[in-house]
Amino acid sequence: MKIALDHDSTLAATGVVAFELIGDDAAGLTYENVESWEWGLETFGAARYLSGMWHAWTLRPLEVPVMDESVVETVRRLAEDHEIHIVTSQPDHMGVAEGKEQWLQHHGIPYEKFVVVGPDTTKAFLDYDVYVDDKPYLPERVNRWNPDARVFVRDHRYNREAVGEYVRIHKLADVLPHLVDDEENELALADDGNGDC
Ligand SMILES: [Mg+2]
Repeated sequence: MKIALDHDSTLAATGVVAFELIGDDAAGLTYENVESWEWGLETFGAARYLSGMWHAWTLRPLEVPVMDESVVETVRRLAEDHEIHIVTSQPDHMGVAEGKEQWLQHHGIPYEKFVVVGPDTTKAFLDYDVYVDDKPYLPERVNRWNPDARVFVRDHRYNREAVGEYVRIHKLADVLPHLVDDEENELALADDGNGDC
């Protein structure tokens, strides 16, 4: 299968560095402070907030942590059976894509393609069998435009109201029981049914 793995806040904890770059009034914030998809834009203004997010990748890419400790091994495992594309939505801002790819290589995360989606379209228009993402609006868009595809939503406070058909995951390894045939899957928790929607 072709799998679209989102980058920001699914594989990479971009916010950790971005909050420091936004300014003193954002320093110390965590993902738990992000209460909605629009929160950052409304709290800091679009220019400041997005500048922090993109400059995390142009200035300090290797300081961005992985979103959870299972990320690297999970993508490696998925890549044994599937075609992995990193599919990331971002503006055409110089150096962002390079920083993200540098981060992927630094962590040894395998992928076949790095795909940038502009801000005026949706990943749902692309031809993938599986999407793994944190964006709360993606499930309903994929359900509508690519109804045979499966969606996994990486849990964050800001996406808990997401509607549509999807499976909620709390760490990347939670996708493995759904996508790989491996009875001795050490990375996955036995109980992953709590967030199914
Ligand atoms: Mg994301």
